[in-house]
Amino acid sequence: MSTPLQTKYTLSPITNNIPRTRSHRPWLLHIRVTCLLTPTTNSQPTHETKLVVKQRLVNPALSTDPNLQSTWTHRLWVAAGCTTVFASFAKSIIGAFGSNLWFEPALAGFAGYIIADLGSGVYHWATDNYGDSSTPLVGTHIEDSQDHHKWPWTITKRQFANNLYLLARGTTLTVLPIDLAFDDPVFHGFVSTFAFCVLFCQLFHAWAHGTKSKLPPLVVWLQDIGLLVSRTRHVNHHRAPYNNNYCVVSGVWNKVLDESNVFEAMEMVLFLQLGVRPRSWTEPNSVWTEETEFNR
Ligand SMILES: [Zn+2]
Ligand SMILES: [Zn+2]
Repeated sequence: MSTPLQTKYTLSPITNNIPRTRSHRPWLLHIRVTCLLTPTTNSQPTHETKLVVKQRLVNPALSTDPNLQSTWTHRLWVAAGCTTVFASFAKSIIGAFGSNLWFEPALAGFAGYIIADLGSGVYHWATDNYGDSSTPLVGTHIEDSQDHHKWPWTITKRQFANNLYLLARGTTLTVLPIDLAFDDPVFHGFVSTFAFCVLFCQLFHAWAHGTKSKLPPLVVWLQDIGLLVSRTRHVNHHRAPYNNNYCVVSGVWNKVLDESNVFEAMEMVLFLQLGVRPRSWTEPNSVWTEETEFNR
């Protein structure tokens, strides 16, 4: 006879006994609870009952996890980044109107979109493989990236501004001086699309971790036609050997970069010149191995 889960496993004493030393990662709660719920009787909890526990304990924890929530500082950086990008775009459009030249700014804008994907790959490769939380300017991003490799699905739970503010800050500090110093519509055609893609690449990345049925149809369509990084390609970044598919805007550069072994060559040069080993060389290890309830 099946016994209700709540009767068999009293949840509050279990959760009270969980050490709070890793309270900044409360999604781990479901892993610990699943382990603690290992029954001592013959009546095994079904997969469904485990999922019920997961639903009840993980989602509320994630929704209140401060590491995944947006603050007003995050929102202000995103607003500032969007403003500087819009100003650059407006300068390109106004300049194109004034000079009656449309092809060159449009072509520069397309180049900005293409080059931004390459830039996202280089930045992603660098922060995945080098530095740590104490690295100036990008230390927080490096730490977040390591967490992302261990718990990839949590990126979908990150709130919008929380996910974007680091690159929005970099965009603001770079594009604002360009806005003030230059008026050329072709140059701003490139800058505005490049900066837009950089600012929003973490959103595109989060969408690559999304479930097709839960994503907006337009996003799924853009992924399917290759204008945004695809879900099926990005999943390979999170699988052994953990050293490919770094680009997260359109992903158009991934094939050429991976097949030409450009990143491996750069890693070798850095190792021979500076003696620094990239993190991807030490695979498999616990830092990059995805942690799930099934491999703990
Ligand atoms: Zn990565
Ligand atoms: Zn990812």
